[in-house]
Amino acid sequence: MGEDMSGEQKRYLEGFASGINIGRAATGAAPFRTAPTAPVVVQQATGPDAAALNAQAGTEASGKKLVDQEKWKRAEHPFDAYARLRQQATDKAYPKPDDNFRWRYHGLFYVAPAQDSYMLRVRIANGILSAAQMQGMAAIAETHGGGYAHITTRANLQVREIKAEDAVAVIEAVMDTGLTSRGSGADNIRNVTGSPTAGIDAQELCDTRPLARQFHFHVLNDRSLYGLPRKFNVGFDGGGVVPVLEETNDIGFQAVQVSGENDGIAPGLYCRLLLGGISGHRDLARDTGIICRPQDCTPLADAILRVFIEHGDRTNRLKARLKYVLDAWGFDKFLDAVEARLDQKLIRVASARISPRPLFDKQAHIGVHPQKQAGLNWIGIVVPVGRLTAEQMRGLAQVSSQFGDADIRLTVWQNLLLSGVADAQVAAATAAIEALGLAISAHAIRAGLVACTGSKGCKFAAADTKAHALEIASHVEARLAFTQPVNVHLTGCHHSCAQHYIGDIGLIGARVSINGEGDTVEGYDLVVGGGFADNARIGRSLLEKVKAEECPALVERILGAWLAHRTDASETFASFANRHDVAALKTMMGDGA
Ligand code: SF4
Repeated sequence: MGEDMSGEQKRYLEGFASGINIGRAATGAAPFRTAPTAPVVVQQATGPDAAALNAQAGTEASGKKLVDQEKWKRAEHPFDAYARLRQQATDKAYPKPDDNFRWRYHGLFYVAPAQDSYMLRVRIANGILSAAQMQGMAAIAETHGGGYAHITTRANLQVREIKAEDAVAVIEAVMDTGLTSRGSGADNIRNVTGSPTAGIDAQELCDTRPLARQFHFHVLNDRSLYGLPRKFNVGFDGGGVVPVLEETNDIGFQAVQVSGENDGIAPGLYCRLLLGGISGHRDLARDTGIICRPQDCTPLADAILRVFIEHGDRTNRLKARLKYVLDAWGFDKFLDAVEARLDQKLIRVASARISPRPLFDKQAHIGVHPQKQAGLNWIGIVVPVGRLTAEQMRGLAQVSSQFGDADIRLTVWQNLLLSGVADAQVAAATAAIEALGLAISAHAIRAGLVACTGSKGCKFAAADTKAHALEIASHVEARLAFTQPVNVHLTGCHHSCAQHYIGDIGLIGARVSINGEGDTVEGYDLVVGGGFADNARIGRSLLEKVKAEECPALVERILGAWLAHRTDASETFASFANRHDVAALKTMMGDGA
């Protein structure tokens, strides 16, 4: 192609050439791909989008059909369409499906019919933002949104009820705070998570903040990493006391201590590589046997991403995640491709040389906990289903500045920690938090509650997850007394944003028939016995199609069976649930439900 062609012209010609290939197949002409004397010739794109465009062209050249989202990306890169987004805002117009997909590259989601408005998702490296940034987000929620924000299961913030005319203003207001919404939706690398107690945790092996920040800014500043076949999650676990759920990510890095000296691998701190987590597809990331130095996490993740960009599925959104490349290839072939991309061998180490991880505390995200800095504490605040009013956001920023170190640490448990609170200030800080209508302690069921957006704000939801989660918590805490942590996760659809498969009790939205004539009500399928971290496990199906109104009493019965039949007061719910088959569990629940 001529040097003077625009990128758009080149893409048009590439698509045209691919179309000819498909046309030949449709008319019975020998497809290029099967003729040994006429191998297919795919024009090579150039520039930062080249790898994705070439992957698309290769897909079409092989006779397969791209999904609409791939065609939209090829027709116009979302980052080249900002002027049209601005024009739509001026016209007070919401986008059609193709632009609705594109604006997600800017973090903006048009969420009709659930709400006739946008939702904006920001990205916050390691989930840690400053008090000033939280104040800024409070102002954004009031000025451009519904006056509240949600903490997400990727330690992030979302603002809802944004009108069409505010689309550009809200994106730019986020940038004014020093945060960004760029790449927080669609086929991109999502918010980079890290241990919420990074740098303040006495037991941590590694402070994940510099690792998460390095990867966060690497992604933000490389347009060639915005051409993925589908979304992609990366999480860093530093070995601290609060789990970060790295095993639910496409790439999970776990800080590990390697002992002994063998095969030229020196003892010391490394990051272990896990790959392929996607809990909604019933798979958790698996250990690859690979370790790297902490400073090498970004180049390693970069190489993995580029192999995925080239070889991920672009014909079926359900199969377009890293897991499916790994399933098709196996780890060995995939890691060979990563090594080829890096042009160096990866470090393989026997698991026997890796020291056991320090223990988790499933309740360390709530309450007062001493930091590794003598005389300082973090305070974990209960934020039921992650909802904060703008007033609470502003108040927490004030408490953080006045009594703490002005860092606000969001967790994947949809709550937050205030760090750097001196011993002498804990009581005053707690009183100030409680004055905001928040708490630092809760019944175990409320402390472990996780819910996705649900039908109030997401068109995919089969149920109002946040409201039902609160109903379950209120019902159970009034009837059952226990202090052992129990996680109840409610997710509205198969996207599994609330990761119901790793909850002790997981609920996924399902419409429930009420009369056999097509009328339905909101309800759930239930799984039990899921887990994470040192008890990572996908939950088993217990019941299907339970009406939402019946779920609070049902969860009470499940938990009641555990309390009545556990081996002793120390047996966890997950241990109990996995010790029995489903029939036995139903019997213990009293009526087979
Ligand atoms: Fe929406 Fe489904 Fe995600 Fe819930 S799990 S927020 S319903 S996409």
